[in-house]
Amino acid sequence: MNQPTTESAYPSTGALAPHPTGAAAELLLRGVLPYGEGEPTDVLIRDGVIAEMGPDLADALSPEGTSVDLQGQVLLPGLVDMHVHLREPGREDTETIATGSAAAAQGGFTAVFTMANTSPVMDNPAIAETVWFKGQNTNLCDVHPVGSISRGLHGSELTEFGMMADSDAKVRMFSDDGKCVHDPRLMRRAIEYARGEDVLLAQHCEEPRLTEGAVAHEGSTAARLGLRGWPRVAEESIVARDAIMARDYGGRLHICHASTEGTVALLRWAKEQQIPLTAEVTPHHLLLTDERLATYDGVNRVNPPLRERRDVQALRRALAEGIVDCVATDHAPHGSEEKCCEFDLARPGMLGLETSLALIAQIFVLDGDQDWRFVARVMSENPARITKLPGHGRPIAVGEPANLCAVDTTRSWVASGRDMASKARNTPYEGMDMPVRVSTTILRGKITCRDGQAVT
Ligand SMILES: [Zn+2]
Repeated sequence: MNQPTTESAYPSTGALAPHPTGAAAELLLRGVLPYGEGEPTDVLIRDGVIAEMGPDLADALSPEGTSVDLQGQVLLPGLVDMHVHLREPGREDTETIATGSAAAAQGGFTAVFTMANTSPVMDNPAIAETVWFKGQNTNLCDVHPVGSISRGLHGSELTEFGMMADSDAKVRMFSDDGKCVHDPRLMRRAIEYARGEDVLLAQHCEEPRLTEGAVAHEGSTAARLGLRGWPRVAEESIVARDAIMARDYGGRLHICHASTEGTVALLRWAKEQQIPLTAEVTPHHLLLTDERLATYDGVNRVNPPLRERRDVQALRRALAEGIVDCVATDHAPHGSEEKCCEFDLARPGMLGLETSLALIAQIFVLDGDQDWRFVARVMSENPARITKLPGHGRPIAVGEPANLCAVDTTRSWVASGRDMASKARNTPYEGMDMPVRVSTTILRGKITCRDGQAVT
């Protein structure tokens, strides 16, 4: 196959498809293990598409082609993150589309969805198109803008979903993330409007009247440390309400950053009723607990807050069982002055793009009983399916678009904010051993990360 013939080879987003200076004509990946299974194989990529797979394809590579030795590395579909904050426009001092795209490429991602709480807010087609085209010009990762549900994130008036969906940015997901759409009447209208446009709504579940001034999970740790508590019910009451709204008014609804055992129970109920509700969980809610708050280090402040061990265990089981559909990082860069301050004043959020694959591999593959197919499912296939994103999360097979990442399972590393491609340094994993490393990321046949470094 010389030319991709299916629409799925490229994102349908906008007229701009393959980048003009994009892929090397041919790329040969040598000795990889697709999904970590079977014998090492070569993968020949031509014009952005997987053209051949087999034990030794060196002779099939044209003289101008590039060969990369990835002997024994795990090959996965390029990862998809439904939830990042790239801070542009407005806070380019903490992250830009360029630095965020580099962080994504180093994390193995080929597509990310960047949330609407920028300044100005992503509530109209012009801003969404600017973000989309900046991402395409950076050409390290597809950066899909998320439109806000309400104008200015004020929670009173809906934005024009149709105009943003029809723009060159082809906005396919809407969210007021950072804030909850708590007015039930507005949420009902949003669901009905979204159903008509076939776009996804992503809800940040937080009943604001229960979280005023709250900075930590409401429990014994917060009580001991004298921190104002953020109760589980603030999340679960909105999850329950929105599940019932999705049942009665249809539409596709997605729960951002599920964080409690009770949310898992509600998701289980909703799936049993065949309600069109999906959910994500962050690596930090799968790993960390509120006991970390004892140091009062602002790096551990996040919304929703780090919970208790039983929540972590419930979320792990839920992801393994498919009750929670996917992993999303909620990558949230902040400047040091916003994190190195009194805990109450620290801005909520953590970096996530560059550490997520290693953490999920550690929890579920190395220490758990899942395989690399599971990682592909929860970090690539499911988020691409939920967002109806063409060209990503596809099988590793001949004729499929070459959006891929390779994981070196023999190379551990130590996380350090200073070494990250992200402009910010607020990683909660500083100094922690990461057991595996993304060595190579490929976007439509072009190498975007090589030897663990973004190709800028
Ligand atoms: Zn959120």
